[in-house]
Amino acid sequence: MRHYEKILYLVIGVLAFSILFWYGITGLVVPPDGATVIYNWTVEDTTGHVYTRREERSIPKVIDEKIPPGIFVYTATVELPLIGNSSHGYALVIAHPAFQAFQVYIDGVLIGSVGDMERGQSNIWNGIFYFPIDKKFLRGDALSLKIKGYALYIHGFDIEPFIAPIDIARKYVFINRLITDRIYNWAIGASLTVGLSLIGLILLSRGVSNKKYPYFALASMFAAIFYMDYTVIESLPVSYLTYKKIIMISAMMATYFIHNGVLAVVYGKEEKPKSSYFISYLIVGAAIIDIFLGSNMVTFRKIYTHVDLLIPVVFIYDALVLFNKYSQKEDSVREMGILLTGMIANSFFVIIDIYQLMKELYMSSYTVLISTYGLMIFILAMNFALIYDYISVYRRAQSQEKTVKELKDISRRDTLTGAYNRGYISEILSAVHGDVCFLMLDIDHFKRINDTYGHVTGDKVLKHVVSIITMQIRSGDVVIRYGGEEFLIILFDAEMGIGRAVAERIRKAVEKSIIIASGQQIKVTISVGVCCGYIKEDISEEQVWGYIHKADEYLYIAKESGRNKVVAGECPAT
Ligand code: GH3
Ligand code: MG
Ligand code: MG
Repeated sequence: MRHYEKILYLVIGVLAFSILFWYGITGLVVPPDGATVIYNWTVEDTTGHVYTRREERSIPKVIDEKIPPGIFVYTATVELPLIGNSSHGYALVIAHPAFQAFQVYIDGVLIGSVGDMERGQSNIWNGIFYFPIDKKFLRGDALSLKIKGYALYIHGFDIEPFIAPIDIARKYVFINRLITDRIYNWAIGASLTVGLSLIGLILLSRGVSNKKYPYFALASMFAAIFYMDYTVIESLPVSYLTYKKIIMISAMMATYFIHNGVLAVVYGKEEKPKSSYFISYLIVGAAIIDIFLGSNMVTFRKIYTHVDLLIPVVFIYDALVLFNKYSQKEDSVREMGILLTGMIANSFFVIIDIYQLMKELYMSSYTVLISTYGLMIFILAMNFALIYDYISVYRRAQSQEKTVKELKDISRRDTLTGAYNRGYISEILSAVHGDVCFLMLDIDHFKRINDTYGHVTGDKVLKHVVSIITMQIRSGDVVIRYGGEEFLIILFDAEMGIGRAVAERIRKAVEKSIIIASGQQIKVTISVGVCCGYIKEDISEEQVWGYIHKADEYLYIAKESGRNKVVAGECPAT
C-alpha cells in the first residue's frame, strides 16, 4: 500500500467514526418514546418580566448579557392522564439543565433539589436528573410543575424536561449518564493513571530520553482537569467563574503539551520551524487572555468561545506537520499513525463543538458538545501507544547495553588508547538497532604533531583525545579506533540533535584542552563527520557500513572546508 492510500483510509475511517458518534449521541439525548415532553413553560425572570414559550421543539434556553444572577421560575401545566399508562408510576426527567442549581415543585410541593441555590457553586450541566412522581399527584386532571432555577448567565434547558413511565425514564437516565457524566469520570481516572504511569516510567528507568513522554504525560493530566467540565459536581470549592477558568486553561495547556509532544515526535532535538514556536506562544497567550479577561460568566463565555478557536487551529497545524513527516519516513516513528488519526479526529470534533457554541451564542439553539470525546479517545490511545513504545525502546536499550557489556568483557581493545579495535566493528554492529548516530572523528594535522614533537608525544595526544571522547559520551556508547588517528564513535538511542551536540561538545573540549608533553604546551583540533539514522532489526551489515561510510564522507567535507568542524547529516535511506 502506498502512503497516500493509507492516509486516505485513515481519513475515511476517522470521518465514518465521527459521523457515527455524532448521530449516536444526538440520538440518545432526544426524549425517549413514550415520554410526555413539557413545552408550555412560562418563565419569570429576575426583573419580574414574564414570557411564555409554546412552540414545539423550541428549547427555552436563554443567554442574556443583562440578566443579573438569580432565581428564574419556570412553570408549566401537564394535562393528565399521561401517555403510556404505567402501573409502576412516573418520573420527571430533567436532562442537561442550563442552571447552576434548581428545585422542582409539583402542585406546590418541593420534590427535589440539585446544586447550590445560594451562590451557584456547582456544575450540573451534564447531569440527567430523575424525580419519581408520587401517586397522590396523579389523582387530579393536571399537574402543575414549577422549576426554580439559579442562573449565573444562562438559564433554561438543553433538552426539554419530560415525564415518562418510570422504567423508560430509568433506562434513559442510565444510558445518558453513561455517555455524558460517567464516561468523563472514567476518563479522568484513566488519563491520570496513564499520565502518571508514563511519568513513573520516565523516573524509574534511565537511558531513554525523549521529551515526547513528559509532554504527553502532562497533556494527559491537563486533559483530566479539563474533563471535569463534563462531570456533575453539586458543590464546588470555588466560584463557578474560577472553576470555568481552570477548565479552559487546562484545555489550553493540554493543547500546548500535545503540540510540543507532536513536535518532539517529529523533530526530536532538531531545529523546529519558527511557526511551531509561534503556535506555542499563541496558546499560552490564549490561556493568559482566558485568565485575565472576563470578569463575569457572560463576558468570559464570549471570550473563550472565540479564543478557543485556536485549539482546532493548533490541531490542524500539528496534523499537517505529522502528515508531512508521515509521508516521508514511516518506520522511525511508530506512533505517527495514531497521532495523525487523533489530530484529524480531534480537529473535527473541536470544530463541531465550537460551531455549536457559536450558534448558541448568536442564534440560541440546541447544543451537544462532543469535542471532548475525541480528545479523550485520542489521549488514551496516545498514552497506551507511548507506554508500549517506551517499554520496547527501554528493552532494546537494555539488551543493547548487555550485548555491549559482553563485548567489553572480551576486551580486545587497542592497547595504546583503550578504544575498541577495528576488528570488532561488525560484532558491535550486530547489536545496533533503533536510532543510532555514527561519529567519524579525525585529529587535524596530526602528521605535523608527529613531525614536530616526535612519535611519543603523538601517542600522548592520541590517548588524550580518547580520554576526552570517553568523558563526553554515555557509558553505553562505544569508541572504536578506526584508523591511526581516526575514531568511530557509536551513540545508541540517539537522534540527529544528540549526535550533532555530542560531536560539537567533543570538538570544543579538544580545542580548549592543552597537552603538556616534553615541556611543551600542545594544542590540537579535530574534525567530525556525523551521520544519524534509524536502524531496523533486519538491516544488513552492508547497509550499516553504508552509514559509516556516510559519516566518513561528512568528515571529508569537514576537512575540506577548513577543519576543526562538525559536519552532520542524515544517513542514506535503506
Ligand atoms: P588531516 O588534518 O587531514 O587529518 O591531517 P593529518 O596530518 O592528521 O592526516 P594524515 O592521515 O596524513 O596523517 C595521519 C598520521 O597519523 C600519519 C601517521 O604517522 C600518524 N599515526 C598513525 N597512527 C599513529 C600512532 O599510533 N601513533 C602516532 N604517534 N602517530 C600515528
Ligand atoms: Mg588527521
Ligand atoms: Mg587520518
